[in-house]
Amino acid sequence: MRYLSTRGGVAPLAFDQAVMMGLATDGGLLIPAEIPTISPQQLRAWSRLRFQDLAFEVVAPFVGDAIPSADLRDLIERSYATFAHLEVTPLVRAGDRSVLELFHGPTAAFKDVALQWLGNLFAYLLEREGGTLNILGATSGDTGSAAIYGVRGKPRIQIFILYPKGRISPLQERQMTTLPDTNVHPFAIRGTFDDAQAIVKTLFNDLEFRSTYRLGAVNSINWARILAQMVYYFYAWGRATGGDPAQAVSFSVPTGNFGDVFAGYLARRMGLPINRLIIATNRNDILTRFVQTGVYARESKVHQTLSPAMDIQVASNFERYLYYLHAADPAQVRALLETFARTGRLQVSADRLRQAQADFAAAAVSDAETLDQIRVTYQSTGYILCPHTAVGVRAARAFPDAICLATAHPAKFNEAIYQAIGQEAPLPAALQGLMEQTPHYIELEAKAEAVRRQIAALVQG
Ligand SMILES: *Cc1c(COP(=O)(O)O)cnc(C)c1O
Repeated sequence: MRYLSTRGGVAPLAFDQAVMMGLATDGGLLIPAEIPTISPQQLRAWSRLRFQDLAFEVVAPFVGDAIPSADLRDLIERSYATFAHLEVTPLVRAGDRSVLELFHGPTAAFKDVALQWLGNLFAYLLEREGGTLNILGATSGDTGSAAIYGVRGKPRIQIFILYPKGRISPLQERQMTTLPDTNVHPFAIRGTFDDAQAIVKTLFNDLEFRSTYRLGAVNSINWARILAQMVYYFYAWGRATGGDPAQAVSFSVPTGNFGDVFAGYLARRMGLPINRLIIATNRNDILTRFVQTGVYARESKVHQTLSPAMDIQVASNFERYLYYLHAADPAQVRALLETFARTGRLQVSADRLRQAQADFAAAAVSDAETLDQIRVTYQSTGYILCPHTAVGVRAARAFPDAICLATAHPAKFNEAIYQAIGQEAPLPAALQGLMEQTPHYIELEAKAEAVRRQIAALVQG
């Protein structure tokens, strides 16, 4: 399998090269040159597999000969051995609703599904090809800890995560700052999340620093993350239908950067019988507006909501969908994104809009509705939804048989849970005992220079 850029400016890459490149060097996103399809017989056979074996089947055609099969199986086994549930991503019932629990990984959020695998993949490829990697990122809470847990203790990799000091939840801070691994470096920045993000951008744009210090990112545009997320759509379908290829299911997907729901779109293109794919957004509803009107337009600012992992202005994976929507033509993608960069707005033709509306349903959910959904579901079933998952359940009100993706354990968002139902969700084992531990971090001024100096000292020392 070869990989191409959505903007057409990258010579075809093998899977391992695509993983190490992350963002395409022409500013686009990497996509597979073709989408493999599977037969109904295969689907039926896959439905009987355990999660890890299914993951191998889904992933292998996209990896091609870049990794020997035995090594790939081993990578997958190790990536999901850290999950607390035997089924990895179990499909459970909350009353009449099916919920796909994606939060049994070490940080109790769905990003573990992709980042446990990406961390092992990075370590494997670095070991094979030689070299080192310094991962740099900024977090407003969840992504940072999932990235840290993905690479903790891995040789040849160091990770530097910037977070705004005093502006993330104490539990989230403990998750990032209590690990004994010497390759993990949390930086508490005296500033806001936007300051932290701006510093990361500055350092990535400093091409000399970036190459001298071999900076890498783990943000949601890495192709390997999308790939890992396709697996649980197949898994859920098998559990829901018993493996009958004549039966289709729908999914409701709480979405920010369009990564998760895009994985579902690709699973359908591979031949998985999916009826509706519902894009569930909070008040930051650029994707919902797009599906309704064909106009993709950024707002002036990000709205803070009770589902903070979806508080984004521009969905970084959306470009991949635009590419497929425009017959895999990089020239059209480039033109649209140029317009968007210039004006903050792009519009697709009426035909394309009809296609998008066939591909996706979409709904935006307010904070009040989110709290109401947590309350209603709890009162009628005893099941506690995290606020992101509640957005998905609410968005699927018109689709009672849609499987709702549960993206975080509710105990990670206990303030919202308390507000909704007057009690907190019990902590899962992964989060117990954290608050009793002492945080260790390096506190820095909100200046790119301060972060640059600190990274230089740690990498050389
Ligand atoms: C990241 C995240 C999301 C959104 O996922 P995308 O891939 O950005 O669409 C939803 N819920 C939780 C809890 C998350 O951490």
